[in-house]
Amino acid sequence: MIDIAESPASETTMNQAKHVWSACLSKLSERVNSQSYKAWLEPIVPMSLEAGVLTLQVPSHFFYEWIEEHYEEMITAVVGAVLGKDARVAYEIAKDDPPIESHADVAAVAPLPRSEPKSYPPQPESFRIGNAPPNHKRSGGSGSFQNFLNPRYTFENFIKGESNQFACAAATAVANNPGGTAFNPLVIYGGTGLGKTHLLQAIGNRVLQLHHNKRVIYVSSEKFTVEFVEAIQSDRINDFSAFYRSMDILIVDDIQFFAGKEKTQDSFFHTFNELHHLSKQVILSSDRPPKELNGLDDRLLSRFQWGLTADIQPPDLETRIAILQHKGKEQKIDLPVDVVECLAANINNNIRELEGCLISLLARASIQRREITVELAHEVLRHTIGQVKSPITIDEIQRNVCEYFSLPTDLLSAKTRKQEIVNARQIAMYLAKELTNSSLKTIGLHFGGRDHSTVIHAYQCVEDLMRVDMKYRSTVEQIRRRLETRTKV
Ligand code: ADP
Ligand code: MG
Repeated sequence: MIDIAESPASETTMNQAKHVWSACLSKLSERVNSQSYKAWLEPIVPMSLEAGVLTLQVPSHFFYEWIEEHYEEMITAVVGAVLGKDARVAYEIAKDDPPIESHADVAAVAPLPRSEPKSYPPQPESFRIGNAPPNHKRSGGSGSFQNFLNPRYTFENFIKGESNQFACAAATAVANNPGGTAFNPLVIYGGTGLGKTHLLQAIGNRVLQLHHNKRVIYVSSEKFTVEFVEAIQSDRINDFSAFYRSMDILIVDDIQFFAGKEKTQDSFFHTFNELHHLSKQVILSSDRPPKELNGLDDRLLSRFQWGLTADIQPPDLETRIAILQHKGKEQKIDLPVDVVECLAANINNNIRELEGCLISLLARASIQRREITVELAHEVLRHTIGQVKSPITIDEIQRNVCEYFSLPTDLLSAKTRKQEIVNARQIAMYLAKELTNSSLKTIGLHFGGRDHSTVIHAYQCVEDLMRVDMKYRSTVEQIRRRLETRTKV
């Protein structure tokens, strides 16, 4: 069933190692600050996964000693969580690293370089030790620079659903005509792991695909800040500004980290103005709506209103299922429907976590030579989120809704058209459509054999009311949350 177990051995173990390590990295990124992450974890290269041993390559002896002292325990724990507690981690040192003799290595891996950069843009040390794909260097008018686009993120492998449709449509429009739409800047906001970085990067990749000579750069607000501070320290602020102002497309991820950094914001503000004035495209992301970005300068926030702000919401069940199926196909693995539904039902508001679980599942299946079954999925879920929920059923939704409104459940199936019953029935039908994978016909049958058109009508009524009536919306969301956070095993 898992064809990774049948491909040529070395390639297989390397691929598995890559998948497992990427799941580990996503967990590690939550535990260490981003500078340490970039300096010490990103440069590690997964080499193989054999007999439960994950071999990781580190760039130097010094690097290994640092890892041993600071991160080994954490890495071992995370690998254990992904692969099971029997898993082990082995380290190897890149062949071209000479044994430690001097402190030269220290300079090569220190998180913050203090030496004067020889050319602009300065390459932060974390990149010098090789974490950026070399084919993503581009030449531009003022010399070559790394654009930090990851070719993995494309529109083609971004699954569209109701939750991200608007943001995705706006991103596509901008990618096809950068600087030429009214969406400048384009600001995409939403919770973590919902696809903001993916969309931002997809825009950059699409632009380069269509126009090879455009100058595109992707930068996180943290990296922009670090570079700004370094530029000041090394008296290269003019180079810094000129570099970012020479872009055709400037992509800045996670601008919430600009909060409170007044001087950086000031520099960004001027860069923004200059680019906007020249009809160059600016694309930004944030983890919350711009008006909730405390600590950001009002004049910067007001600039965002010149363009378009689009949100990404947590994906609904259907989209989560589609994403898992797509990821399965990418790995050339036929995932059983019940396994996909089980994972999708359990992880409902973070696509990164959803991906991580799938990777753990595939790794376990392959290492322990087991079939991909719901039991195995439960095992992985218990390890990753600590619990397993059975999929929500229509009966459960009906019970919860009636409990909330203090109504007897059987009235939902009765013929009565009393307003309060109609209201509860409509909400229950809406939630059944949202939270289960049942067809409209099946949902109708659970409500006294009503027709599928009645379910559609109820769904639309609830959606319309939620749009105009905040109190109603909060009622529906409360019931939804109760259902989604229940921990029935
Ligand atoms: P964010 O930047 O919002 O925290 P990311 O863009 O890093 O989230 O997404 C987390 C992971 O989930 C990435 O691996 C990304 O490719 C994947 N992902 C997110 N949304 C989608 C989607 N709609 N379709 C496919 N993969 C997605
Ligand atoms: Mg992101």
